[in-house]
Amino acid sequence: MQGMVRRSFIAGAGAVAAAVAAAPVRLPAQPSPATAGPADAKLIEDLVAANRILVGQGVLDGYGHVSARHDRAPDRYLMARSVAPELVAAGDIMEYDLDSNPVDARGRTSYLERFIHGEIYKARPDVKAVVHSHSPSVIPFGVTGVPLRPLYHMSAFLAGGVPVFDIRAASGEMTDMLVRTPALGRLLAGSLGGAAVVLMRGHGNVVVGASLPQAVFRAVYTEVNARLQAQATGLGGQITFLDPEEARKAEASIEGTLARPWELWKKKALAR
Ligand code: MN
Repeated sequence: MQGMVRRSFIAGAGAVAAAVAAAPVRLPAQPSPATAGPADAKLIEDLVAANRILVGQGVLDGYGHVSARHDRAPDRYLMARSVAPELVAAGDIMEYDLDSNPVDARGRTSYLERFIHGEIYKARPDVKAVVHSHSPSVIPFGVTGVPLRPLYHMSAFLAGGVPVFDIRAASGEMTDMLVRTPALGRLLAGSLGGAAVVLMRGHGNVVVGASLPQAVFRAVYTEVNARLQAQATGLGGQITFLDPEEARKAEASIEGTLARPWELWKKKALAR
């Protein structure tokens, strides 16, 4: 086992050396971490599917990303190279350590905002998957101070409260709005706290889950709930949101049925 890890590390270092010799690339600040070994093939397949599902559901477009914690190494996560989510294939999936250093980049570029994922996995051992999107219906709730609240049973997971991360207030700086450093990732993870969703003022949101299907489900129904809440607000009456006890019961019931939409979504996504 030791020998296998050593060999693959040496092979990886050789590939980096070859790439450096072939092109004037900028060297990474730190040496690449050694691989934790291959992830479960089904997890990779699910991650590819998750990318395509989230595009089909209007959560991701040419931007945004979804990751999964490595099934055999909790200090690693898996995410596609910097590519539009609809185009993601198994060969695009890269391994990262929790400081968001790629293990074996081989010339592949990484998403600028990968620190969202690494810092949340560090802060939340319960989280196994993370979705970062700019899903449009959610944006107004990040800029108006109107809280996003669960309007129906499908979005009961919002009942614990949906915090808003204001990058300017949190960092004390004028930024380009992107979570492009570990420090900004830590501030975002701090705003998320123990919640399922955190909104990013003027930018998007992050949804976490205990599994990839759960994170995908939550990302989809965060967008739907936001759309419905804006519609209900437009009707002008008093909105009755789920009571916390209703939300707790509804979430438990829906949790048991997650496999149904996931099977459908994955089948359609991988047939494309
Ligand atoms: Mn973003």
